[in-house]
Amino acid sequence: MEPIIGIDLGTTNSEVACIIDSNARIIENGDRGILPSCVGLDPDGKIIVGVEAKNQAVIAPERTILSVKRLMGSDDKIVLDGNAYLPQEISAFILKALKARAEKDIGKPISKAIITVPAYFTDAQRQATREAGAIAGLEVVRIINEPTAAALAYENTNSETRKILVYDLGGGTFDVSIVKIENKIVEVLASTGDNKLGGDDFDRKIMDALADHCETNLKLKVKDNLTIMARLRRAAEKAKITLSAEPYAKIEEDHIGKKLLKAVHLSYELSRTQFEEMIEEDVTKTNDAVSKALKDASLLPSDIDKIILVGGSTRIPRISSMLEERFGKKPHGEIDPDLCVALGAAMQSGREMGMDNSSVLLDVTPYTFGTSAVGELNGMPAMTMFVPLIHRNTKLPARRSEAFGTIVDNQIGTDIRIFQGEKPDALDNIEIGMYKFKLTKAPAGSVIVLNFDLDINGILKIRAVEKMSGKHVDAVIENAFSAFDEKEMVASRKKIDSEWSEGNEDILGTDFQPQTEDNDTSSSQDITPETASILEKSAALLDTVTDEEKDDIINLMEDIRDAAEEKREDDVKKLIGELEDILYYYQD
Ligand code: AMP
Repeated sequence: MEPIIGIDLGTTNSEVACIIDSNARIIENGDRGILPSCVGLDPDGKIIVGVEAKNQAVIAPERTILSVKRLMGSDDKIVLDGNAYLPQEISAFILKALKARAEKDIGKPISKAIITVPAYFTDAQRQATREAGAIAGLEVVRIINEPTAAALAYENTNSETRKILVYDLGGGTFDVSIVKIENKIVEVLASTGDNKLGGDDFDRKIMDALADHCETNLKLKVKDNLTIMARLRRAAEKAKITLSAEPYAKIEEDHIGKKLLKAVHLSYELSRTQFEEMIEEDVTKTNDAVSKALKDASLLPSDIDKIILVGGSTRIPRISSMLEERFGKKPHGEIDPDLCVALGAAMQSGREMGMDNSSVLLDVTPYTFGTSAVGELNGMPAMTMFVPLIHRNTKLPARRSEAFGTIVDNQIGTDIRIFQGEKPDALDNIEIGMYKFKLTKAPAGSVIVLNFDLDINGILKIRAVEKMSGKHVDAVIENAFSAFDEKEMVASRKKIDSEWSEGNEDILGTDFQPQTEDNDTSSSQDITPETASILEKSAALLDTVTDEEKDDIINLMEDIRDAAEEKREDDVKKLIGELEDILYYYQD
């Protein structure tokens, strides 16, 4: 049967996909399968499409056109070096380039396609898209809505009735749609958005902060200098992308300007928290649009079965956390958000070709991996709050970093504990590694950055870096996926617990006190039995005191442990005295 290709004809980028061996696959061409939606004439008058055209956009804007999708359906003429084109003719060049890469990959001529368009496209815009296909030599078998395609990419094999929210945040546009899938029919219930909101705005915010820094701190005039501003914009986008995986981004631009004939360099650090503050207003706007879509579809957040992330900007962690806060469920981004719509279009082409059970082949992590930290559990302070770094269903390979602060002044070390699981208390998850990290003495709150790198074979590489000194420890867990099956763990824990209580009631009482990084005193050989006993009594008090007192007690316990490990006996005595005073007060 003649293949039908699926095409996402996007404002910034376009992609083509096809069903091969029952799986939807993006057709690559020495790239990730992403073709910039950019058309130009080279200096010899030859049409160029994609990266080549994008590269000349700055130096030859009169010969290059970007974002032609915004003009589809209009009669506007596009002039390239004196030649006039209609929007559908320019789009046809993009479609021709996609058709050519598919023919090269599949090894057959292709004449049929399914093309996606935004749900809000008018009839005239849809008709212009069909015409673009015809001009490119493609019969457009169907035009489908982008959110419909995204929903199909996730749900093609599911036969239940589902309501899906598709949150699509790209470079320049934001769309939110609610679709219903019932008996294999997909219907768009509501669609709204903002066609001037996206990642470009976030870049601009970072760029403005960099420009202010240059003018105020480096005393350089940059805001009227287009070349410098273009450099700052590129640096801003790079930093933004880094912050999706790391808690800090370092922006270094050498020779950004000159002062008194000497080169001035830009060096600026941006934290994820600062970036999130910069974009919060835009994030709130998208949240308001989500409310509007729900209202238009007469639905409540609890009616939504699944949230799907589409568009490159949904990789920003704040977007997922905002949606999770709103809906109480994690949004899905495991199908590459840049490729999801084209893969869904291919899924529809599979249906047209009679292959109903095609699906997207995915490499995702089956487990969540994270660490433990001091935090809150059920509104109470806790020493073992689970902090996930790489969530279940994240596409592999995956890389994620998170920043943590030390708890006390001059902390001499910490245990980096690695867990697999979903439970809020890390101790209810499966511990798959524990590494000691000796720290440089510094005030409480000194930053340690923990980085997880997980590949498709389940090899988890861990690096903890002391931010201040750059000192680090590395560890590798060779088989993180099969470290310990959860069922096995539950069974084994039950067994151990019952055996323990059968023989040891008289030793420990009924409550088994888990040992954590912060209250594990018995393992240290430097701590005397008397000190251990006082520490144990103090730990038992923690549940009965106020938050402030709890912090004081924990700090004192930490100080005692540190002093004991460093053999500062006088300090140990003095600190124990302080702790005993507290115990005395409470025992009364
Ligand atoms: P799209 O229009 O869907 O191709 O999305 C392009 C936008 O996604 C651009 O603004 C990119 O800078 C942004 N983007 C791509 N990858 C990331 C990332 N990892 N984190 C944040 N933004 C990203």
